[in-house]
Order: sequence, then C-alpha cells, then structure tokens
Amino acid sequence: MTAEEFEAAFAAMSGVTVAFLHRCGRYAEPCRCGGYDCQGWWMGRQWEDAIVEDHIRARTSVPPPGVA
Ligand SMILES: [Zn+2]
Repeated sequence: MTAEEFEAAFAAMSGVTVAFLHRCGRYAEPCRCGGYDCQGWWMGRQWEDAIVEDHIRARTSVPPPGVA
C-alpha cells in the first residue's frame, strides 16, 4: 500500500476527501508500530475524531463580518 492509497482509504473511511485531509494538514506517515493489522502508514497525530471535530467546527463557526 502506498501513502496515496492509505490516504484514499482513510479519507473514504472518514467520509471525507484526500484533499480535505491535506487541507487539514493530514498526511500519511510511515508507521512502524508492528501491529498485526498495521498497514505501514498512519495519519500523523490525527485521528478520526479530530476530523469529526473539524466538521463540527466548520458547521458551527461564525463567518467573518461581511461574509454570508
Ligand atoms: Zn502501525
């Protein structure tokens, strides 16, 4: 599995796009945890709930004055 493939799978699993992950500063990084189900990559220090939080933030954030 390549980093790109991992990011695509992670994005699909999270219900977002790879572009969204990158916009949030999330990129696949080599993982050497040795877990039996480890695919050799992880998303930096980011996890799914961080993405969910971003969704919540995006939904509840107030647009700056003059916008909308
Ligand atoms: Zn791992």
